[in-house]
Amino acid sequence: MISKKFKKIVMNMTISTMIFSIIPISVQAKEINKSFLKTQSIDAVDKTTLEYTGGKSNKATEGTDNLMASYKVKDGQLQLKSNKKLSKNDIEKHKIMWERVKQIIPKAYLNTINRFDVVTDEKDNTMAYVDSDDSNTIWTFGLNIQDAFDEKGKLLNKDLNETIVHEFGHIITLNYKQIEPELKENSATYVTDEGTTKKQSYLNIFYQKFWSNIYGDYKKSNSIKANQNDEQENLAFYEKYKNQFVSEYASTNPEEDIAECFRVFVFQNKPSGKTIAEKKVLLFYNFPELVKMRKEIRNNLKLK
Ligand SMILES: [Zn+2]
Repeated sequence: MISKKFKKIVMNMTISTMIFSIIPISVQAKEINKSFLKTQSIDAVDKTTLEYTGGKSNKATEGTDNLMASYKVKDGQLQLKSNKKLSKNDIEKHKIMWERVKQIIPKAYLNTINRFDVVTDEKDNTMAYVDSDDSNTIWTFGLNIQDAFDEKGKLLNKDLNETIVHEFGHIITLNYKQIEPELKENSATYVTDEGTTKKQSYLNIFYQKFWSNIYGDYKKSNSIKANQNDEQENLAFYEKYKNQFVSEYASTNPEEDIAECFRVFVFQNKPSGKTIAEKKVLLFYNFPELVKMRKEIRNNLKLK
């Protein structure tokens, strides 16, 4: 049950894309393949957003070295759990990071997060993750402090906000209302590492509509797991279906794809639906509760 699910984002600001990379928390190769981001090149179509790309890590190191602090979240307040020595300044920074998470995430979901982790990883490497308990009810939200502040020590805005919304996209699509924790191999619905999607879940609808016809190809491309060639394999898959993805990272798997589409859904204007990638984003507009959520997040961020 180690690291049953980790969703991580890594960014490379200079190339303005995302990378899934080796991450500070021990994760099985399978999970990494499913959930880590790698930086790659920018997608010219989508310069306004950071690109999460489809590379994958094959290994992860133990997290304890990189876990700077772990906080229990109670009534929206942080209570330090870890006993590592932290300066006042560190703790202040962690609070500022948490306040941003709190600012963005809709109130109805905020109380499903009971732990906030701060990791200190290489800049542009691991950026964030979420992880749930076995029933997909309670969540841990993790952010990398190295990617949260600019050189002057000011909390980042756009990049960090988009990362947080991407992670929140995982919470929306992988929580217990959407997914049953049992892995039913023969399910007619999409099966994730987190469990089996319910028929009417966002992810299953998304999968049936946009992935079922390419999933065989995806599997074939990614058949050599835990192999250094993984990134190449998935890159080939991405190249082949480029117009179907909002970012390269989105091609990592359906779970990342839907989180990426959710990010685009929140931050960008309603697309016309010309490409499959745009149709994916449009799908969210079919759900009034998600449109409401979009509005709430945008209000929280004071976006027009
Ligand atoms: Zn993700």
